[in-house]
Amino acid sequence: MTKICPSCYAVCIDQRWIFDESLRQKTMKKNGWEKHLCPGCERVVKGKVDGVVYLRGDFLRAHREEAKNLIRSVAEKKLRKNIAARIAHIEEKDDEIIIETTDRALAERLGKEFERAYSGHLDIQWQHGSDFARVYWTRNE
Ligand SMILES: [Zn+2]
Repeated sequence: MTKICPSCYAVCIDQRWIFDESLRQKTMKKNGWEKHLCPGCERVVKGKVDGVVYLRGDFLRAHREEAKNLIRSVAEKKLRKNIAARIAHIEEKDDEIIIETTDRALAERLGKEFERAYSGHLDIQWQHGSDFARVYWTRNE
């Protein structure tokens, strides 16, 4: 049976979750579908965090919107490849943005894209024997 995620509206057809708005609307007009959380929303609901990204430094004060746009575009690209890779939570402070992700690779990707776009200093720490990473990106001035 076709599944539709009530939270993000992804559609699961033939065991595969995809985003397809017209397919979703078509499916919902018929019978033969059920509400079911997708793997990404399920991880968010369960609070399954596999990565934390710490973006830090004075740079963020002057470039906050830019930084948030980059976070959004990296997350969107990753989501097209992996439905379970989500940002679970973002906390914004004066000179820091902390991002919790449901997917280790998404956390790593965010750090790497910040380094690529803005230089700065990147440090990724993997937790031994687990699928968890802490990613630190810092740029002052
Ligand atoms: Zn979902």
